[in-house]
Amino acid sequence: MKISELGEFGLIDLIKKQSFRKFLSVHIGIGDDAAALKVSPSALLLATTDLLLEGVHFDLSYTDYYSLGWKSAAVNLSDIAAMGGVPRFCLTSLGIPSHTKPEKILDFYRGFNSLLMTHKVALAGGDTCASPFGMIVSVTVLGEVEKKRVISRAGAKPGDRIFVTGTLGDSAAGLEILQSGTGGRGAGAGRKRFNSALVKRHLRPTPLIAEGRKLALSGCASAMIDISDGLSSDLAHICKQSGVGAVIDAEKIPLSRTLTRSARMLRNMPLQYGLSGGEDYALLFTVPSARIGKLGALGLAVTEIGTITRTQQRWIVDVHGRKRRLQQSGYDHFARSENNGTRRR
Ligand code: ADP
Ligand code: MG
Repeated sequence: MKISELGEFGLIDLIKKQSFRKFLSVHIGIGDDAAALKVSPSALLLATTDLLLEGVHFDLSYTDYYSLGWKSAAVNLSDIAAMGGVPRFCLTSLGIPSHTKPEKILDFYRGFNSLLMTHKVALAGGDTCASPFGMIVSVTVLGEVEKKRVISRAGAKPGDRIFVTGTLGDSAAGLEILQSGTGGRGAGAGRKRFNSALVKRHLRPTPLIAEGRKLALSGCASAMIDISDGLSSDLAHICKQSGVGAVIDAEKIPLSRTLTRSARMLRNMPLQYGLSGGEDYALLFTVPSARIGKLGALGLAVTEIGTITRTQQRWIVDVHGRKRRLQQSGYDHFARSENNGTRRR
């Protein structure tokens, strides 16, 4: 069998099955946003790592090094947010083409460190080598969470309501604008403003640490994931890990005014970006009905988009009230291109 038939997630499942034994000290292992490891009776060490490759995850013809540094930190911090944790330490490894100017690497660290400083995360080490294959960035973030507060992908129960933070699809639209070469340079001031807001969501995503933390400490959320692959894919991850299904309502998917107003410039309908577009780093989470009031009291900008069901299928009710199967259309590194969403990481 070819790796493209297996897909990224099929391959990860096989790797998980091959792992030679289960360790009691691993509270949550392969299959979640971060590993949660028992280091004391009441606390868990969170560990997450992400690899970003030039030409796969980023394109230096439209990505400045400051943004690359920012995003390399953000994607990892977001995984800690999705567990309800606090990020603490980071290790950063770089493969650098030998023609790269040192100032570019310092720019990378300016972007990287600005996010680390905001969240009080210490850069504790890493590795550096020359790369003959383009720029390579590998970041590992370590964090912590109280054992009784950790939120995994596996806790969703039938009847739980499904929520997302903020708006979806902006980052994917921003990527499309960058790839089309009109990033921030569209004709007319209004168009330029829309372009740059979407492009910014793509290049400088915000990891929702405070929001994840509030959800964890309040005990509202039964399961959580960050939207890196796209709503349809990341909802599938929650459903698979929890052994449940879901029904979502297309009309409720939160889309920004900027995205809907920019629709004419884009290749797809705004809803398509909301469903399949990756890299928003919004939080997707489930809440038992009895805790909806508690969630409201947190004052977070969230939208209810559907309900968890017992049957293990995922459905979407479209804008005409018709129910159809929700295709998993987010990004998969090895899947054929027609199955792929817009995410590049
Ligand atoms: P995310 O998008 O949140 O970063 P991924 O989809 O990359 O998560 O990974 C899903 C899960 O698979 C995570 O638990 C991750 O640690 C694990 N994983 C991914 N690749 C490997 C690998 N090569 N070996 C072991 N575990 C892996
Ligand atoms: Mg994640």
